[in-house]
Amino acid sequence: MSWAERPSIPSKCRCPRTNVDFGEVAIKARAIGAVSPRGKAESPGSELSPVPSRGCRRPARWRSTAAGSLLRWAILLVGIVPASAAPLPADFVYLRDIDATIQQDIRYAGSNNFVGRPLPGYEAAECIVTRGIALRLKAAQAQLRPRGLSLKMLDCYRPVRAVAEMLAWSEDGVETAAGRRYTPGVAKRDLFRLGYIAVRSGHSTGAAVDLTLVELAADNSADFDPAKDYADCTAPAALRAPEGSVDMGTGYDCSDPKAHTSAQDLRPEQRRWRSELVAVMAAQGFVNYAREWWHFSLPGAGETTYVFRIRPRR
Ligand SMILES: [Zn+2]
Repeated sequence: MSWAERPSIPSKCRCPRTNVDFGEVAIKARAIGAVSPRGKAESPGSELSPVPSRGCRRPARWRSTAAGSLLRWAILLVGIVPASAAPLPADFVYLRDIDATIQQDIRYAGSNNFVGRPLPGYEAAECIVTRGIALRLKAAQAQLRPRGLSLKMLDCYRPVRAVAEMLAWSEDGVETAAGRRYTPGVAKRDLFRLGYIAVRSGHSTGAAVDLTLVELAADNSADFDPAKDYADCTAPAALRAPEGSVDMGTGYDCSDPKAHTSAQDLRPEQRRWRSELVAVMAAQGFVNYAREWWHFSLPGAGETTYVFRIRPRR
């Protein structure tokens, strides 16, 4: 892999010695505390990247120790192993291998998202999570299936480079139709200032997921058409881009107060669906993010961000 393929790290500190092959190896980037879902700056001042945060210093556990030296060499060696020999870091799994009945529509792998194009690092539309998260999702699915419902994954593990691309998009000054659909009440240039775009994401730990519910008996056949002029994400479901799921009152990734899980300006059935999703996830230990009805994480499960790319499942 060339240097040009390395992710754009949203940090003023660029340290060549830490720029190992980001695409092939999972780097224990750095322990983080409260991590954010897409765009929500819950902990200002923290970083997501493998690049050390201050003065280009390496993390303390790497400095001047034999173990640190061995670890650096191990990472470099792993980095040159062909991808097929090391498809996923330890403890990560393809959700499809754990439960193939859980539906998936990984939005950042295609153009049906607020950026309007596939994000770097998403080379396959596959949900990858840690094994513990996958088993809990399987348990949630087991509760839903007898009732004619299914989970539908919208995003799972998110490579750091994709988060960096989101940040770059928010700062490029170009307003797009896709962007306006997802952020109807705020200018794109204000997304970062208002906390809608942050520099790191809990998704990069593999312990956060975006998902919704599907009624299996419903007609969910309508496909997203990138050429079509859909209404924004707060409009009635019939006017929004189709998502093949129940009507939660807004579309996925909608940067608007109406997407807050407890928003009041919803119809009763929309509120019920949100409560249903929160309940089935809470039963497995997941906690919802109050500003996004679709985002759930497992407290304490992910403290390390990863940078490996999402590749096709073999
Ligand atoms: Zn999320």
